[in-house]
Amino acid sequence: MAARVSLRILDLPEQRYSCHGCGDCCRDFSVQLRDDDLERLEAQGWERELGEPVTVEYRGRRYLRQRPDGGCLFLQDDGLCRIHARHGLHEKPLACRVFPFNLAPDARGPQAGLNYACRSVRANQGASLASHDGDLVRTLRQLPEATRPAPPRLAGDLRADAGEVDGVASGIDRWIARTDVPLSTRLDGFAWLARSLGSASFEDVRGSRLRELVDLLVSALPGELDHLPVDEPGRGQRRQLRQAVFARIEDPRFTDDLARPPLSARLDQWRRSARFARGRGRLPGLARGWAAPATFAAIESMPPIRPADDLDDLVARWLRGTLRGGRAWGAGYYGWSIVHGLQALALDVACVGWLARAHAAGLGHEAVGIDSVGEAIGRVDRARGRAVWLGTAAERLRLRYFAADDGLRRLVRSQWSEA
Ligand code: SF4
Repeated sequence: MAARVSLRILDLPEQRYSCHGCGDCCRDFSVQLRDDDLERLEAQGWERELGEPVTVEYRGRRYLRQRPDGGCLFLQDDGLCRIHARHGLHEKPLACRVFPFNLAPDARGPQAGLNYACRSVRANQGASLASHDGDLVRTLRQLPEATRPAPPRLAGDLRADAGEVDGVASGIDRWIARTDVPLSTRLDGFAWLARSLGSASFEDVRGSRLRELVDLLVSALPGELDHLPVDEPGRGQRRQLRQAVFARIEDPRFTDDLARPPLSARLDQWRRSARFARGRGRLPGLARGWAAPATFAAIESMPPIRPADDLDDLVARWLRGTLRGGRAWGAGYYGWSIVHGLQALALDVACVGWLARAHAAGLGHEAVGIDSVGEAIGRVDRARGRAVWLGTAAERLRLRYFAADDGLRRLVRSQWSEA
C-alpha cells in the first residue's frame, strides 16, 4: 500500500472552490512542463498526429505551445481539453491537473495554496477545499520534491523553522482578517508590517521571540499608522509602479520558438514597456476580455478604490489565502525570503489597485467595482510564482527602491481609500 503523504491544504474555511469549466486556465496561460509531462506527451504521439511541435522552449524551460489567439494547442472548440478527452485527466500535464491549486513545500511540509486567477476561486463557488484532498494527494505522489520540507529563508541566509513560518503567517493573517478595521487601513498596515520586518535584524529574534515580535507589531495597528503619515508617491515611485504592473501582466505568447523571438515581437514588447514607463497616451491592450484600454491620464484621474463589503471579502480572501497557502515565499515564490516575499505581496496589492482602476477607466466607469478588482487580482495572481522574471534580482532591486522612503505604503495608500 502506498505510504500516506501528509499535505496541508489551505486552511481558510471561508474559501471554497470547484471547477465550473469556464476554460480561462486554458487561454493565455503559460503551462510549464516537467520531464514526466514531456515523456507522456511524446508517448501520446501528438507531434506525429498534428504534424507540428506541441511544446516551446523559453528561458531554458519547456512550455505547452499556444495558438496565435493565446488558447492552448489542445483546447477543443467545445471548450474541453483534447488530452483529457482522449487519455483521461491523469494523462494531462501536472500543472493542468493541479490548477488552481499550487503545490509547494515549506518548513511544515507540502502546502496546497490557491491561485486566484481562477474565476471560481474568486467567486468563492464550490465545495470545501478539504474535499479536494484525495486528488491532490494522488498528484503529490508524483512530485517527490514537493514532499520534502523546504524551510524558507527568513531574511538573508537565516532559515525559518515550521513554528516561525506559522508565527509570521498567522500573525499577519490576524491583521488582514480584522473586519472591524477598514480594508484600506488593513492594506496600509500590511505594507507597514512588510517594511518593518524588512528593517528588523533577526539573528537574536528567533523561535517564540519572532512570534512575539510579529504579535507586537500587529498589536500596534492601526494606531501606529496615525503617527506615521506618508506623502503621496513621487513621480519616480509612480513610474516604477507602472513598470511593476507591466511585469505582472506581460505574458509571452508560447506560439513559436521563443528562444529566438522574431525582431518584431521584441520591438513590440519594448514599445509596450516604454509606454508604461512614460505613462502617456493610451495603455497598450491588456488582456483578452478586457475593456478598450484607457489613457494613462484617465487611470490616474480615477478615484482610489472605496471598498464595499463584497470587495473587502475578495481582497482579504486573496491576501490571506496567499499568506496561509505557502505562496508568499520560499518554494512557493521563487525561493524568496519571508521578508522579501511579504514586500512583493505588498507591491502586488498596489499593482492590483492600479490595474483595477485601469479596468474601470477602460469601461468608462466613474468608480472601481468588484468586477474590476476581481479581474485585476486574476491578472496579478496568474503571474505569481510562474512568471520567471518576477523572481529575478531586478525585481528585488525594485523592492529595495520601494522599501526606502516608505514607497510601498505610499503606493498602497494611493490606490485604496477609506469608504
Ligand atoms: S479557471 Fe477555474 S473554473 Fe475556469 S476552467 Fe480553470 S479551474 Fe475551472
